[in-house]
Amino acid sequence: MTNPSDKALVPFVSVDHMMQLIHRIGVGKMLQGLASYIEADFKRWELFDKTPRIASHSAEGVIELMPTSDGEVYGFKYVNGHPKNTRDGLQTVTAFGLLADVGTGYPVLLSEMTMLTAMRTAATSGLVARYLAPKGAQTMAMIGNGAQSEFQSLAMQAICGIRTVRLWDIDAGATEKCARNLAESGLDVVRCTSAEEAMEGAQIITTCTADKACATILTGNMIGPGVHINAIGGDCPGKTELAADILHRSEIFVEYPPQTRIEGDIQQLDPDHPVTELWQVMTGAAPGRRSADQITLFDSVGFAIEDFSALRYVRDQLTGTGLYHELDLLADPDEPRDLYGMLQRARA
Ligand code: NAD
Repeated sequence: MTNPSDKALVPFVSVDHMMQLIHRIGVGKMLQGLASYIEADFKRWELFDKTPRIASHSAEGVIELMPTSDGEVYGFKYVNGHPKNTRDGLQTVTAFGLLADVGTGYPVLLSEMTMLTAMRTAATSGLVARYLAPKGAQTMAMIGNGAQSEFQSLAMQAICGIRTVRLWDIDAGATEKCARNLAESGLDVVRCTSAEEAMEGAQIITTCTADKACATILTGNMIGPGVHINAIGGDCPGKTELAADILHRSEIFVEYPPQTRIEGDIQQLDPDHPVTELWQVMTGAAPGRRSADQITLFDSVGFAIEDFSALRYVRDQLTGTGLYHELDLLADPDEPRDLYGMLQRARA
């Protein structure tokens, strides 16, 4: 069916168009752009509607809705997390999302967000590390070399200027894939045979593993003073990566405490254990790293405002690119109350 030109069509960014957009902008430049949008939105944190994401858990994984609004624009993301999926040739994490005009309630953008989530998660990691990692950090240990890992490595390069990434995964094939994909990145890529080896000389340690379990990817004896831990994979009740003693030795930074206390590695701690909210560090209301030998920990779970920022960034980059389809998503009769008449006319 063809659309009359006056219809309220909604731009839709497919996976193919998203990939073209990323290449047109450049991966590193887009990661920097996303980080600056996320930072801008974190600096106006108090404006936003905030709620922990709405999670539907099953034995194999979780499906989540992540809504927020700044009063002018509303956004949400649908995202899943199914660690067993890769065994069946499927992604652990897939997503799509939407922006809408608060004034009319009409959607203004629908987008794939599997690629965009990897980009925004990595951009957030890079942004946070720019505030918290020790000065002059050049080396990152990358523990877990799955779908997110190249994005995480490239964001630390583009946003924090790291030069070396040291890879470790229990699956050597994943490490090989990650090393291959990063071969032309300009990063010095080192394949390691254990988590301990990966952490040698690293000032930033990223954990990005997937297991629906309280795993212990890092134990206390592996962590020396002065490092920044970027913990990505502990993001669901019953799904953690760090031994509790690391949490006790670290200054912990989080996105939104009501969500992170349920989902992050800090679910292992007392509910009133002190944490610092990242938006306060970014506005200067709270200190970030206070000394060279402090251990800083970003207990990342992924918050709705980061997706809102990412969608906002994509919307702003789309103009003039043609990298979208126009979707006939809304029934919008010329006479607003004649919805049934519109249906009748469609039969003719
Ligand atoms: P993935 O399944 O593609 O990769 C996970 C990798 O971890 C696999 O290669 C696996 O072999 C490896 N692994 C598992 N246990 C390990 C261990 N003990 N030591 C070393 N490696 C191990 O998953 P992905 O898409 O890369 O996502 C990774 C994690 O990040 C998931 O848990 C996902 O839920 C989480 N995630 C978090 C955010 C956020 O905002 N915080 C966003 C996206 C994804």
